[in-house]
Amino acid sequence: MATTVAAERMQTAARTGAGAVESSEVVIIGAGLSGMYQLYRLRQLGFKVRAYEAGSDVGGTWYWNRYPGARFDSESWTYGFSFSDDLLREWEWSEHFSAQPETLRYCNFVADKFDLRRDITFNARVKSAAYDEAANEWEFVFEDGRRARSRFMITAIGPLSAPTMPVIPGVDDFKGEAYHTGLWPHQPVSFAGKRVAVIGTGATGVQTITEVAKTVGHLTVFQRTPNWCAPLRNSPIDAATQAQIKASYPEIFAKCRDSFGCFIHDADPRRALEVSAEVREAFYEKLYNEPGFGIWMGNFRDVLTDKAANDTLTEFITRKIRSRVKDQTLADKLIPANHGFGTRRVPLESGYYEVYNQPNVRLVDLRETPIERITPRGIRTGDTDYEFDMIIFATGFDAITGSFDRIDIRGRSGQRLKDKWADGPHTYLGLQSAGFPNMLTLVGPHNAATFCNLPRCIEQNVDWVTDLMRHMRDKGLSRIEATAAAEATWTGHVFETASRLLATQVDSWMTGVNKNVAGRQRRTFMAYAGGAPKYREKCDEVAAHGYEGFVLA
Ligand SMILES: Cc1cc2nc3c(=O)[nH]c(=O)nc-3n(C[C@H](O)[C@H](O)[C@H](O)COP(=O)(O)OP(=O)(O)OC[C@H]3O[C@@H](n4cnc5c(N)ncnc54)[C@H](O)[C@@H]3O)c2cc1C
Repeated sequence: MATTVAAERMQTAARTGAGAVESSEVVIIGAGLSGMYQLYRLRQLGFKVRAYEAGSDVGGTWYWNRYPGARFDSESWTYGFSFSDDLLREWEWSEHFSAQPETLRYCNFVADKFDLRRDITFNARVKSAAYDEAANEWEFVFEDGRRARSRFMITAIGPLSAPTMPVIPGVDDFKGEAYHTGLWPHQPVSFAGKRVAVIGTGATGVQTITEVAKTVGHLTVFQRTPNWCAPLRNSPIDAATQAQIKASYPEIFAKCRDSFGCFIHDADPRRALEVSAEVREAFYEKLYNEPGFGIWMGNFRDVLTDKAANDTLTEFITRKIRSRVKDQTLADKLIPANHGFGTRRVPLESGYYEVYNQPNVRLVDLRETPIERITPRGIRTGDTDYEFDMIIFATGFDAITGSFDRIDIRGRSGQRLKDKWADGPHTYLGLQSAGFPNMLTLVGPHNAATFCNLPRCIEQNVDWVTDLMRHMRDKGLSRIEATAAAEATWTGHVFETASRLLATQVDSWMTGVNKNVAGRQRRTFMAYAGGAPKYREKCDEVAAHGYEGFVLA
């Protein structure tokens, strides 16, 4: 199914004529779930639309992140698209939390079923996008020099799709095998008998470490910031459950639709401290033993907003970690000291803490002994030279705005989006930025999607943009731009909504801090934290009032 770069280029050249500028009404950048669904919806309406994708096939996150242990934190059956009954009937998830290969198969199944590939150009990384005011068009230049033009640009470039390497001297010097989890090779990688290093203990690192530890010769984990992890409790879906899931999709999606983050878990109406210590303990215990994000999203309603409430949960999880790690000095290192449970993205795990009970696993705490440099044979900390056969960089992404920054996007009067967002994003509804007409940003910053069970919010974003496009076509309109005033009000609202969260007091990708990226050291806020239902209501209200806050012409 994957098209080779050469074949794809020949097809493009044949289609466009060598050196020709390919022209469409709408260009979508990216062919992950957002790009795929947007393509499907606009094509249904008869728009001339083309998607350009840097990878050689569809799937986005699930195409790139082939690292060992990569798997959902969302229940699989809440993650799939809901827009097609046929799709829901035909597709079967084999596990409650599917692993990456199955999710990639799902993406391919969707692309095949709706014949999406014929309108996607693969191996096409957009390098720049510039708004031509006179023509009211966007012009795109790809990494290989190809060009395209369109009236509308819809970005579907992913919240977590710009991988970052750590800022460590000698990072390119290592002579052994080296992989970034977000750029994992398509061929199998063996760890058997090898001395492997993993740098990073975020959600990806936790999944990778747990899987690699099963077959590795010797594993060394380099940890800068421990995270609070909770059990995933994955299991296969048996035939009876499969039938039950299929019969109840409408209820499942309705439940997701009404919850804060579009998960099947939603906050308990009680406050943590209004119940007795025994009731609280029993509730935490129940959530800890249940699958998925319940412990994070289905907890007492104030555990993520009230420090005293959060302390009770943090203390509970601390005890759980201590009970699972035999060496208590090691447990101390694995227990976060600088933030409470749930104030950063919670990695879900399947035996992560027990990995540190293995005799062939060692933890290096970078707060005690920072990495000095990467050497041709391994990693040097202040006191030790470690030798490895393989280094795995589980160092994550320049989240939310990174994929925007990697394209030279210029709006009206040549203004660069990167400059405009230098001190954090400014958007209207997380769907547009003033000064960038006809550019719509699916799953963009300040959108509810960044806190979401993504496909649920992707469907909302795409449906809203599709309705907008239909409205503009029906009214003979060709230009849309958010007003500066609407943008300022929305951006202010995003900050106001976020301010009640304990998460705003912590460095994380949610607050836009990334120690590996220059200029990302100051906290801002990347997501709309008012919840998906309120966000949807606001978007619908804007549309109902004739796209209030936008100037249409
Ligand atoms: C390891 C991992 C696990 C995750 N697990 C979950 C989960 O359990 N539940 C959940 O809800 N979400 C999860 N997510 C978030 C996940 O990103 C979304 O669920 C979803 O896949 C996002 O789809 P998307 O199409 O918006 O973005 P992506 O899937 O990231 O797709 C964006 C696409 O745009 C392309 N692109 C970017 N820049 C350019 C360019 N300049 N030119 C051309 N193409 C470009 C990329 O190559 C990519 O294919 C996870 C993310 C990761 C990394």
